[in-house]
Amino acid sequence: MTDSQKKFLSKEIEGKILFNEPLSEYTTLKIGGSAEVFIEPTDTASLIKIIKFSAAEQITLSIIGRGSNLLVKDEGVKGIVIRLNSPEFTYIKKEKESLRCGAGAKLADLLKVAEHNELSGLEFAVGIPASVGGAIKTNLGTVHPVKKEIKELIDYVKTIDLQGKESYSLGRELDFSYRCSNLFECVILEAKFNLQKADKGIIKQKKSNFVDYRRKTQGTVSCSAGCIFKNPQGEKAAAYLIEQCGLKGKSIGGAEVSCQHSNFIINRGQKAKASDILALIKIIEKNVKKRYNVKLELEVEIWE
Ligand SMILES: Cc1cc2nc3c(=O)[nH]c(=O)nc-3n(C[C@H](O)[C@H](O)[C@H](O)COP(=O)(O)OP(=O)(O)OC[C@H]3O[C@@H](n4cnc5c(N)ncnc54)[C@H](O)[C@@H]3O)c2cc1C
Repeated sequence: MTDSQKKFLSKEIEGKILFNEPLSEYTTLKIGGSAEVFIEPTDTASLIKIIKFSAAEQITLSIIGRGSNLLVKDEGVKGIVIRLNSPEFTYIKKEKESLRCGAGAKLADLLKVAEHNELSGLEFAVGIPASVGGAIKTNLGTVHPVKKEIKELIDYVKTIDLQGKESYSLGRELDFSYRCSNLFECVILEAKFNLQKADKGIIKQKKSNFVDYRRKTQGTVSCSAGCIFKNPQGEKAAAYLIEQCGLKGKSIGGAEVSCQHSNFIINRGQKAKASDILALIKIIEKNVKKRYNVKLELEVEIWE
């Protein structure tokens, strides 16, 4: 980006604007080079200005949620990275048996508000360090111990497209598939989730069962991006295939295939570089292809 483009943003945009900001701070892997420009806009008006400006100037625009499904390359990211972190994007409001919230809200906060208001449905997402926007974009879900996806709870989603136009889509009109939505090329602004009234004790119990299951299957490791690969259709789970290839615990630099969940790669001691993770990904792909003739597909998103 040119100096005059940077000056324009500094002058016109309300919010936090940082240049060459390391993205490792904003991802759960704690890895990644810098964003050329990192902006946390204060309000929707500023967000729209950024969207229109980047479209007009052909500057790459990326939205980061809580960075829990991202691997940012060591070289960093060109263009603008936006994070919806101001109160205008992180509110959570109860409306009858629904919760309406900004896309920047943490899923963990949504779960707290739901439990407080005796609203059930989101328990399966306990312990997942996502934002609402990221969860919708990736159609966050679980396969075990129950099959659940966030799409099942969506009443509507409010978005802004790359021309800065706001629109609403009903959940049932959106096209969601396995860990994917069709909300490309737009910024998710708000969503409403339909939940059901339930006793607080039952909600707590459900959450605790999911937490126990996660602890047993994933351990309590931090510094990961959850599952690296999607589970291949009609095959055994990716974790099983990786484990059978003898790759559990395999490490390169600080990157290590988790001993608790072979589809997780962890950043041991926060010493790994993105290149270590990428090298490990290549080894896994090669071994699984050779032994099972299965081409694993990435679930984690790589930013460069
Ligand atoms: C310990 C751990 C456990 C996990 N367990 C699960 C699990 O059980 N199930 C599961 O599905 N995932 C799981 N994940 C992966 C991850 O949490 C999900 O993919 C999550 O939905 C990503 O949300 P995020 O806010 O971190 O998004 P990010 O990782 O920041 O971004 C993901 C994508 O969403 C886009 N995005 C984010 N916000 C917006 C927005 N407002 N508008 C438009 N696009 C946006 C980004 O551009 C990017 O394309 C896990 C991750 C970790 C670290």
